[in-house]
Amino acid sequence: MSSAAVRFLGTLVGLFGAVSIAAAQTSRAAAAERGEGFDLVIANGRVIDPETGLDGVRSVGIRGGRIAAISSTPLRGRTVLDATGLVVAPGFIDLHSHGQELPGARMQAFDGVTTSLELEAGILPVATAYERVAREGRPINYGFSASWLYARVAEKEGMEPTGSVTFFQEAQTRKGWQYTVASADETERIIARLQRGLDEGALGIGVLAGYAPGYGRKEAFAVAQLAARAGVPAFTHVRYMSVIEPQSSFEAIEEVVALAAGTGARMHICHLNSSSIRDIPRIAELLRSAKASGLRISTEAYPYGGGSTAVGAELFRGNWRERFGGATAGDIELAGAPFTDSTLADAQEKAPGTWVVVHFLRPDRSAADQDYLDQSILFPDGVIASDAMPWTSQGRPITGDAWPLPDDAFAHPRSAGTFTRFLRQYVRERQKLTLREGLRRMTLLPAQILEESAPQMKRKGRLQVGADADLVAFDLATVSERGTFTHPNQTATGMRFVIVNGTPVIRDGELVRDALPGRPIRRPVTAR
Ligand SMILES: [Zn+2]
Repeated sequence: MSSAAVRFLGTLVGLFGAVSIAAAQTSRAAAAERGEGFDLVIANGRVIDPETGLDGVRSVGIRGGRIAAISSTPLRGRTVLDATGLVVAPGFIDLHSHGQELPGARMQAFDGVTTSLELEAGILPVATAYERVAREGRPINYGFSASWLYARVAEKEGMEPTGSVTFFQEAQTRKGWQYTVASADETERIIARLQRGLDEGALGIGVLAGYAPGYGRKEAFAVAQLAARAGVPAFTHVRYMSVIEPQSSFEAIEEVVALAAGTGARMHICHLNSSSIRDIPRIAELLRSAKASGLRISTEAYPYGGGSTAVGAELFRGNWRERFGGATAGDIELAGAPFTDSTLADAQEKAPGTWVVVHFLRPDRSAADQDYLDQSILFPDGVIASDAMPWTSQGRPITGDAWPLPDDAFAHPRSAGTFTRFLRQYVRERQKLTLREGLRRMTLLPAQILEESAPQMKRKGRLQVGADADLVAFDLATVSERGTFTHPNQTATGMRFVIVNGTPVIRDGELVRDALPGRPIRRPVTAR
């Protein structure tokens, strides 16, 4: 064939191509005119996609739970929600939420979260957890990692995990699993339990190392080897939390760096803020150079100087006050009331599983502490993750359909306000990050951490045609958390619409109580 003929055919193909695209556009426009085009339209918002850089006024057409059109001309649909003056972005993806009951999911929906995953602690049995949540239904997407801690408790204490977070609290009354090295046989059985969890579709391995700091290096290496083999991330709450060596935060994070280097596994460091406390400058240096040398390490943080944990946890033993860089019993609070040395000792003795708040930094009282917190939050490519806690009333978890929650409902305020607080403080008020970069840390980046092993996540964290219709529409001028350490039971404000798989779960700022469009985020199940 002559080159002229090739050119001629190319022109024809080009022409037909143009004609057929134009025809399709005409027919789609006609369908839209008749109001048949879309199930739902989010109209005239400032649409931002952190991946492509789109930032402009658009209407978003949703069909079959996916984004079907992003248009600068009006779209028609069965339902049209007016987003004029609002920012429209991908829904927020929380890699770290222990609040996996219905009340926690609803609180997080007000915070803009459309996918809430329990990856740090994880769970066992994995299939049981997915089945239970699917039976109950959730407004937002959910998912789990396989829990190293549950596997360790099972092998060390002979307690069988139940697929519920209460297992973690019950385990606090035993000590053997926290301090003793696993034998080679025990390690093999722990790995087998984790493998089973991965075969049941777990999204990674949850490693609560700091709760069992007596584990051996070879066990940690075997866990990271499994993560590398399976191609999943390991989500780690590091072994130590201290500014003093040995057994320091620095040493603990160096251990994670060594595991990434020694196995090639993707290692994710949970809550860099609370794990690094006042040693973040040196730790950030270590992590920057580790990442620059190609290690697959990611980090997350939440914008509070207070954490939440069980009062009997290992980190409150011995010289913990010095190890925190100068803390007192009063920095630990139960339901908003500070402990004294004697009430703290009493609670550790009698009710070690009780959830308490610990102020590891005091950004409200100290400019230096604010700077430490900022370094964790603003670490390059660090994601925002809540570490949300289960909501409790009189010390018991609130489950089921209660809404609004009882007046005394308690949890760390991050459980209801992490993402809106981050937007308020770091993007709007202090302008530490652009809106696009702020959104990227809550949407695209967490999706990318998971998408290699969980292909579903390639359709999340983006506002693009073909992506899942998980969206938020919020007022940047007013978006804010409202819950505090003393009165956490207050929904965040400013989220006008929160859409999950094409269905509004927050509409005009109100909960759509019967909407349960949340779906499991899960790797393929290979276990029989
Ligand atoms: Zn943790």
